[in-house]
Amino acid sequence: MNQDWRGAVIRRLLLLLAGCLLVGLISGEYAWSLVVGLAAYLGWTLAQLLRLHTWLKRHQADEPPPDGYGLWGEVFDNIYHLQRRDQRVRGRLQAVIDRVQESTAALNDAVIMLDSDGNLEWWNRAAETLLGLKTPQDSGQPVTNLIRHPTFKDYFEQNNHSEPLELPSPINDRLRLQFHITQYGNREHLMLVRDITRLHQLEQMRKDFVANVSHELRTPLTVISGYLETLLDNVDDINPRWLRALQQMQQQGGRMQNLLNDLLLLAKLEATDYPSDNQPVAVDLLLLSIKSDAQALSSERHHRISLEADASLKLKGSETELRSAFSNLIFNAVKYTPDEGEIRIRWWGDEQGAHLSVQDSGLGIEAKHLPRLTERFYRVDSSRASNTGGTGLGLAIVKHVLLRHRARLDISSVLGKGSTFTCHFPSTQVVKR
Ligand code: ADP
Repeated sequence: MNQDWRGAVIRRLLLLLAGCLLVGLISGEYAWSLVVGLAAYLGWTLAQLLRLHTWLKRHQADEPPPDGYGLWGEVFDNIYHLQRRDQRVRGRLQAVIDRVQESTAALNDAVIMLDSDGNLEWWNRAAETLLGLKTPQDSGQPVTNLIRHPTFKDYFEQNNHSEPLELPSPINDRLRLQFHITQYGNREHLMLVRDITRLHQLEQMRKDFVANVSHELRTPLTVISGYLETLLDNVDDINPRWLRALQQMQQQGGRMQNLLNDLLLLAKLEATDYPSDNQPVAVDLLLLSIKSDAQALSSERHHRISLEADASLKLKGSETELRSAFSNLIFNAVKYTPDEGEIRIRWWGDEQGAHLSVQDSGLGIEAKHLPRLTERFYRVDSSRASNTGGTGLGLAIVKHVLLRHRARLDISSVLGKGSTFTCHFPSTQVVKR
């Protein structure tokens, strides 16, 4: 109440008192006239309060307040203005919400809001066409009941959603979808689903192209290599001027064959998400046989290769794939470690799962190369690679094989001191004897 109103109220009360006293003076009944006067004032005040209450109770959007006298009129007007302001703010907020809903509804990508338990709260129209969600029946349903793919369940339940997930649509196998999940607020999820069918087809075309070219090149290359071998078997008949050229042709032919084999292996690995084989593999025996191959590769370079392996730990998966991955790591250690260097292979288990580490005392790799090392044809130093005859695909194969066995690769290295490549397999892949 501002100062003016306070003065007016006091003046009015004083006036009432003066009136009552005057009536008392005339009638000689001071007490009665005071009681009657104050009772009349109280009655009037209560009547105003009642009007306010009735108006507030049946108040509709634009109905103006009842006319009030004095301070009560001011109170009615103030409440009315507050309500109008509130309505305007609400209207503006509603308009913003409507626009957000309209624009998300018009998106080609599906937008789905989930509560902290993973139940559906809200989704746009694209979610109905891409995932087959039904409005309103599916509201409140767990998302994993509606998208039943086991990979989706695993992906949704894990806490790390930094990488998107690709899956076929649950209602149409030909649609390829990409799922992005973001957590916000109180563990609520926002899920974005994009139709990447076209991108997937292009990617598939690229893979098929590489696989077909590699396959087609293999036969002519085998013929050329075969003839070169026959020619070189009869060294005495060859003009000495041609000997070196033929030897180099044979060496490069071998490199091309390795390259084609690696490309075909990668294409095979990319064709499916999981290995068809899921037998327990005796990793200790596998490593023992790779170690003897590595010793043969090292031969006169006399590397000291040691192996410590826990024989009680087996790995679920494909032996052929694991052999390619582990031999790539171990042969790399031989290739990139100077003569008589040390190579340590360890296979052990703990509560997180099982781990394989290949440590060498070799050339080491600069930290800036580490994040890109598993890319195809990525080489730290091209002259280094041509010396060793590598294809540049070895670590890409390792990464793919590990991904298919739910494992990850860790690389640590110090330039000039050596490198350690560690594969971490989760406990779900490990079988203990
Ligand atoms: P490559 O067939 O050329 O060996 P990889 O994919 O196996 O291809 O390896 C990629 C690159 O990583 C190699 O060219 C090499 O420079 C580097 N590299 C891999 N393993 C090691 C290692 N143990 N020590 C040092 N450098 C390595």
